[in-house]
Amino acid sequence: MSLTYICHYSEIGLKGKNRSVFEKQLMHNIKRALRANGCDPLPHLRILDKRVLASFHQPAQSDLIEKSLSDVFGLVHFAQVRQVDNDLEAIKEACLAELEPLSFDSFAIRTKRANKRFAYTSNDVNVFLGAAVVEKMNKKVNLSAPDITCFVEVLDHHSFVYARKIPGAGGLPVGTSGKIMALLSGGFDSPVAAYFALKRGATCEFIHFHSFPYTNKKSQEKVKELALQLNRYQFNAKLHLVPFAETQEDIVLNCPDSLRVVLYRRFMMRLAEKLARKNKARALLTGESLGQVASQTLANMGVVEAVTSLPVLRPLVGLDKNEIIAKAREIGTYDISVRPHDDACTRFMPKHPVIHARLYEVEKAEQALDIEAMVERDFRNIETLEL
Ligand code: ATP
Ligand code: MG
Repeated sequence: MSLTYICHYSEIGLKGKNRSVFEKQLMHNIKRALRANGCDPLPHLRILDKRVLASFHQPAQSDLIEKSLSDVFGLVHFAQVRQVDNDLEAIKEACLAELEPLSFDSFAIRTKRANKRFAYTSNDVNVFLGAAVVEKMNKKVNLSAPDITCFVEVLDHHSFVYARKIPGAGGLPVGTSGKIMALLSGGFDSPVAAYFALKRGATCEFIHFHSFPYTNKKSQEKVKELALQLNRYQFNAKLHLVPFAETQEDIVLNCPDSLRVVLYRRFMMRLAEKLARKNKARALLTGESLGQVASQTLANMGVVEAVTSLPVLRPLVGLDKNEIIAKAREIGTYDISVRPHDDACTRFMPKHPVIHARLYEVEKAEQALDIEAMVERDFRNIETLEL
C-alpha cells in the first residue's frame, strides 16, 4: 500500500528569498531522520505550496515514519493523507473514509483552499462535507470544541484529506542557522541547552573537559551517549574531549582557592573558543541558568565570558530546574544524565567558591599562570570522536 504524508512548516515560510534553502535542508533532514529510523526505501519528497509532500510508493510502516517526522525540526505538524482529485464527490468519499474508523461524537470540517480556481469556497466545502457526515454517520457538528477535526486542503492539482494531525517538533531545520560549539558536561542541563539550539536550526559540535586519569572515564562515556542521543535531531556530531587535569593542577597550585571554579571556567571558554574558530563555529553554548549554583551569578558569568569575543548562548537562562528535568525526560537525555559521574569542576572544589567574582581580582590571580602555554598544551591533547 502506498502512503502519503503532508508535512507543514511555519516559520520557514517567512524567509522570503531564502525559502528554497530552508526547504531543501528540511527535505534533506526528513530523509536523514527516516534513514536513521530504518525506513527503507525512502519516500519521494517534493514541495507543494509551502508543504512537503512525502510519497512512499513501497510498503512502509506508518509508526516508523511518524516517529521519524516527530524529530524533524522545522515541522509544525504532519499527517498521513488521502489524496484525491479536485472533485467535491471524491473529497466527500475521502472524508467519510477518513472518519469511518475513528471513534468520536462531535466533529468539525476545516477546509483550506489554496487553489482559488476550485469552484467552491472553503465554507461551501465545510458545509457540504458536514452535512454528509451528519447524514451518513449520525454525528454532531461542533465548531468550538470538536472531538475530531477533518482537514481538507485543496491545492492546484489534488486535494488532501486527513483527520489524524500529529504535532511536529517546531523550530527551524537543523543546518540552517550555522554551527555552535556546545560545552557538554555529563549533567542534566547542557544537553537540554544544546537541544534548544538544535531546535532553532543550529548544528552543534560538543566539547567536554575531563580530569582523567584522576577521575574515571564515566563522564566521557556519558557525554558520548548524550551526544548520540541528540543525534536524533542532528544525525551526526563531533565530540571533542579535552584532558583538563593539568590545567586544574596549575590553577590549584598557583591561585586562590575561592577563585578556582571561575578560573576553570575561563580556561574552558578559551579552549572552546579556540576550537570554535578553527572549526568555524560562530558561538559557544552552555547549560547555565540564572542563580542555580554559585558559578551562575551574573557577576561570575560576566567574568567567565570576558575571555571570549564569541557570543555565549545560554538557552536555559530563564528555566527552573524542574522545567529542565521535564525537558530532559522528553528528549531522552534524563536517563543518561542521571547516572553518577565525577565532574571536572568538582575536582578540588573549594569550601567557599566566590559568588561575585571581580574581573580585576581574577585577572590578577591569572598573572601567576602561563595562560598561553596552558591553552596550547590542552589544545594539542584534544581527542575528537565522530559520532
Ligand atoms: P550541567 O547540568 O550541564 O552539568 P550544572 O547545573 O552542573 O550544568 P555547572 O556545573 O555550573 O552547572 O556548569 C554550567 C555549564 O558549564 C554546563 O551546563 C556546561 O555547559 C559547562 N560545563 C561545566 N562543566 C563542564 C565540563 N566538564 N565540560 C564541558 N562543559 C562543562
Ligand atoms: Mg554540571
